[in-house]
Amino acid sequence: MTESRTTTAAPGAPAGENPPLLEVSGVTKSFGGGRRRLTALDGVDVRLGRGETLGLVGESGCGKSTLARVLLGLERPDAGTVRYDGVDPFALRGKELLNWRRRVQMVFQDPFASLNARMSAADLISEPWRTHPDVVPDAKAREKRIRELLSLVGLRDGDAHRYPNEFSGGQRQRIGIARALALDPDLIVCDEPVSALDLSVQAQVLNVLSELQSRLGVAYVFISHDLSVVRYIADRVTVMYLGKVIEHGETEDVFDRPQHPYTAALMSAAPVLDASRAAHDQEIQLKGEIPSPFDIPSGCRFRTRCWRAQDTCATEAPPLVVRPSEGAGDDHTALCHFPLEARSAWA
Ligand code: SF4
Repeated sequence: MTESRTTTAAPGAPAGENPPLLEVSGVTKSFGGGRRRLTALDGVDVRLGRGETLGLVGESGCGKSTLARVLLGLERPDAGTVRYDGVDPFALRGKELLNWRRRVQMVFQDPFASLNARMSAADLISEPWRTHPDVVPDAKAREKRIRELLSLVGLRDGDAHRYPNEFSGGQRQRIGIARALALDPDLIVCDEPVSALDLSVQAQVLNVLSELQSRLGVAYVFISHDLSVVRYIADRVTVMYLGKVIEHGETEDVFDRPQHPYTAALMSAAPVLDASRAAHDQEIQLKGEIPSPFDIPSGCRFRTRCWRAQDTCATEAPPLVVRPSEGAGDDHTALCHFPLEARSAWA
């Protein structure tokens, strides 16, 4: 049995390290008011180092998209803090804000919708330089940089003057990635970047992202509902439910030894390649639908669907349970009164 303890410490906060690239602490964001108040994020903590990938998973409505907008500086939190290298982007103005915006870019889900059909690949990739003209100072340098970016994502020089309708879905997503790289960001928020692509193309695009990370040291926040994709790409995983982080840890820990019943249910429903595991694991059927974010259940917000729920779960907010990582990284944390100890506890 693995040792566990309860604490109020932030998930994913290893002691004694340099300041992380990104640190989100206690971020809360609501929309509307009165009875129509929707709590999209409720005390969310996220931490990410340079060159790392954080997978963000959960059903639709769990708060992933709102969190992405906060990370991009598009949505100001009601409470809590966001820090990039210790700097609060929401306190920046003018040139400082413009410089910060360079550092955080986005790759969108749908490469068909996100690229302007009337712009060539070269125009699309170089468009961010209109707002940041000092990044690549002259026409010659721009041409050279466009060729470099095309090559980085596995496209050819000759592709520069082709238009989106002349590319396949995977190639379009490569253009979207090249465009995100044009401003040399430290962090790219990838919102379901491969879910619109065929399976074989998904693997190619994921490989491009991995290689770019090795070469350039860029960090990713990778949002996906596809757990096999997250397992492949992410160093660490944060699982969200109704606006709260309910589990966080190194990818292998979270996938192989989930502590929270919700995570275990998600994992059990995901396709498994390993036949021995498939025979061992039974799918956990969740009760009912995800509750309305306008009316979040008392105590543990997952209790209305949890097969391990007991009376306490309805009256008391669950504690943060911390289990040391099996690897050398973050502790593995979960919000639960009755966390799972091992896979054998699933059934
Ligand atoms: S606190 Fe209770 S209801 Fe919530 S996940 Fe844990 S066992 Fe289930």
